[in-house]
Amino acid sequence: MAMAEPSRNMMTDGLGRRISYLRISVTDRCDLRCRYCMAEKMQFLPKNQVLTLEEIALLADLFVARGIDKIRLTGGEPLVRRDIGDLVRRIGRHLGNGLDELTLTTNGTRLADHADMLFDAGVRRVNVSLDSRDPARFAHVTRGGDIDTVLRGVDAARDAGLAVKINMVALKGVNEDEILPMLHWCDAQGFDLTLIETMPLGETGEDRTDHYLPLTKVADQIGQSHALTPLPHRTGGPARYHGVDGMSVRLGLITPLTRNFCADCNRIRMTCEGKIFMCLGHEDHVDFKAALRDGGLPAVEPLIDRALRLKPAAHDFRIGTGEGAATTRHMSVTGG
Ligand code: SAM
Ligand code: SF4
Repeated sequence: MAMAEPSRNMMTDGLGRRISYLRISVTDRCDLRCRYCMAEKMQFLPKNQVLTLEEIALLADLFVARGIDKIRLTGGEPLVRRDIGDLVRRIGRHLGNGLDELTLTTNGTRLADHADMLFDAGVRRVNVSLDSRDPARFAHVTRGGDIDTVLRGVDAARDAGLAVKINMVALKGVNEDEILPMLHWCDAQGFDLTLIETMPLGETGEDRTDHYLPLTKVADQIGQSHALTPLPHRTGGPARYHGVDGMSVRLGLITPLTRNFCADCNRIRMTCEGKIFMCLGHEDHVDFKAALRDGGLPAVEPLIDRALRLKPAAHDFRIGTGEGAATTRHMSVTGG
């Protein structure tokens, strides 16, 4: 029997992994300064180095035409980008027409203003980062954030009809005692919870090793009071989900350090400068902005295949080896 022709639209990397998920950092700027993410006096990129919203939209069009079926907007804080609604609506037009899902990761500070816009543009799920529900602790971790604003944003998202997943970076000595209470709170609110190990991305002026908390340990601790059952549920990202005995919340674990998740990686990332990184933990990239500004979309198209060939087998994050950050890029530039 003849083999089916591979779809013209399908993007496959050199190791045969299908690439279907694009994360776009729409800005490196942010109104918070989370200690594990940014330096307190963060130097942001000059505006002319950052893609315009129109450029981002054109590149998104191209990627959808090449087989990307899921896009997540992130940053920096995507909702601080002026006129972000124009971009969300523009990309949202692909939904049901090549694009299966458009999602957003946000710190929640501007969510109350944008929740309805997101829903109207076709977004159905948002990830909101919340490392602590304690006002003083939240202000400490974010270097000045106001928890009430974020909680109002979370409520607005739910009221608008958006499914909410809370992202919590597990930090030893900072919020480890809040993990179980956060799980209970998410369960009561009808949210899912994903825990993330701190990754060595960009200098922050602080030593992440001090706060690195392996999620294998956290899962063991939760397991003492609530049995965890692996679930087949996947959202296209790196989280592995677990059911929690006695609760309806799903617990996601993102474990780049304790359990490498690269073998089935389907993701690429576009930075706010238009660089395509095939892996969060590697420096290899292809610069789409220069090509787009010099030769328009026809100049960009051949670069997609070059980028696909660059995708490495795995990241090589290590923490606690005294080697500092794995890459000099902050998560806020590449897009978390
Ligand atoms: N500003 C938005 C937010 O905080 O959700 C979106 C961008 S932020 C870079 C995306 C996610 O990356 C957040 O959940 C944040 O906690 C996480 N993050 C940032 N730096 C990290 C690091 N070094 N290690 C692990 N997670 C990190
Ligand atoms: Fe801003 Fe998100 Fe980084 Fe916190 S994690 S500083 S909210 S980009």
